[in-house]
Amino acid sequence: MSRAILWFRNDQRLADNAALTAALAAHEEVLPVLIIDPRQHGPTPFGFDRCGPYRTHFLREGIAALDAELRSKGSALHVRVGEPATELTHLAQVWGARVVHAQQLYAWEEQEQERAVARVLDLRLHAPNTLLLPGDLPFPLHQLPHVFTAFRQKVEKLSPVRPLLRAPAHIPSPATWKGRAVAENDLCSGSIVGDHRAVLRFTGGRIAGLERLDHYLWGSRALGHYKETRNALLGADNSSKLSPWLATGALSAREVWHAVKRYEAEHGANESTYWLGFELLWRDFFQFTAAKHDRDLFLRGGIAGKPRRGDHDRRRFEAWCSGRTGQPFIDANMRELAATGWMSNRGRQNVASYLVHDLGLDWRMGAWWFEHMLIDHDPCSNWGNWQYVAGVGNDPREGRRFDPERQAGMYDAVGAYVRHWS
Ligand SMILES: Cc1cc2nc3c(=O)[nH]c(=O)nc-3n(C[C@H](O)[C@H](O)[C@H](O)COP(=O)(O)OP(=O)(O)OC[C@H]3O[C@@H](n4cnc5c(N)ncnc54)[C@H](O)[C@@H]3O)c2cc1C
Repeated sequence: MSRAILWFRNDQRLADNAALTAALAAHEEVLPVLIIDPRQHGPTPFGFDRCGPYRTHFLREGIAALDAELRSKGSALHVRVGEPATELTHLAQVWGARVVHAQQLYAWEEQEQERAVARVLDLRLHAPNTLLLPGDLPFPLHQLPHVFTAFRQKVEKLSPVRPLLRAPAHIPSPATWKGRAVAENDLCSGSIVGDHRAVLRFTGGRIAGLERLDHYLWGSRALGHYKETRNALLGADNSSKLSPWLATGALSAREVWHAVKRYEAEHGANESTYWLGFELLWRDFFQFTAAKHDRDLFLRGGIAGKPRRGDHDRRRFEAWCSGRTGQPFIDANMRELAATGWMSNRGRQNVASYLVHDLGLDWRMGAWWFEHMLIDHDPCSNWGNWQYVAGVGNDPREGRRFDPERQAGMYDAVGAYVRHWS
């Protein structure tokens, strides 16, 4: 009997899952496993945990939903806590399965996990959750252009988005395979209180992700005016709000793309439908940038290797975190983040610029805080965007500072957003 471990990482779905498809094609039985690595949840260099209560809550819901979906297909998810190489080796010995199938991830620590697993087991990596697959790019990853526009111009015409893979009807696992549900203390503790001012009630897992996609495209048809509304600060449908489900892999980027194509076939293409794909290309760009630059994405001098700037003053940092800097537009955004685990893209750009250019802090303090708070945290998007704003990443223009008063005038002209979060 040929058995393989299917190592779920941040791919909380069975559809369009290349690792699952490959495991089923090559083996008679599959053992679905998810490993929570405590190194990625414990304390940051600045004291607070890497995974705060909102992200923990969203992850927990997503893992439970993945388990439920696996059970509906005749299998179950086995959740373990520890270092992936150790945990997978233990399972491989107990269940007699040396091959491990998994989705490829590009951030440094995830690559380190892969290298450690590949030293002890037969690890087979499959398509990442990107719009474009690395093998379809017109250049090798180490020759990825440094600037987004050059990347987009090269890939837009040449690299097709692959068709979707179907979810299997049944997943065969050993009769004695019971799985293990995610337990209360597997992830960081801390409870959350729902805030009625939140832009949306985000629920983890695939069903909720599909519902959001369906609502944004077909229910509200808000996709049709995305380009005009995407910078607005209040209102659930001003932007897609799909990032938390993309970050956990409850949705694949290719699924969103193909849904947009179906929408265009029915309601017509316009600048807005194009622009959602454009933003998904930004997402790809940061994934591939992480692959190209390895550890430099997380170092103070950034991928550009710039001199160190900023200090670690706790007082200024804590004022920023808690929304008490005295700058109303910055504080409103930081309060929204603190109360919900969410902030708009416009808000993120402004508060990041403020931390770096106005408060004079080390940009990594902000990146760690976002990692702790954001329910859509993705290492490539978060650290890549922070580097960009801090002027140590892919931005061809250096020291791009947002003037918060001017930004508030443009995006919150009557002060409704600041009042909402006062
Ligand atoms: C300092 C900073 C940190 C950020 N950290 C994260 C993060 O941890 N996780 C994350 O998913 N996004 C991050 N972003 C990018 C962006 O702010 C969010 O993706 C976006 O706000 C999510 O809202 P939405 O789903 O409504 O986006 P939409 O405007 O509807 O865009 C559609 C999708 O495109 C992708 N996207 C859009 N803008 C970007 C971008 N600048 N970079 C990468 N992908 C993008 C997202 O997957 C998003 O869901 C960060 C941006 C900044 C400035």
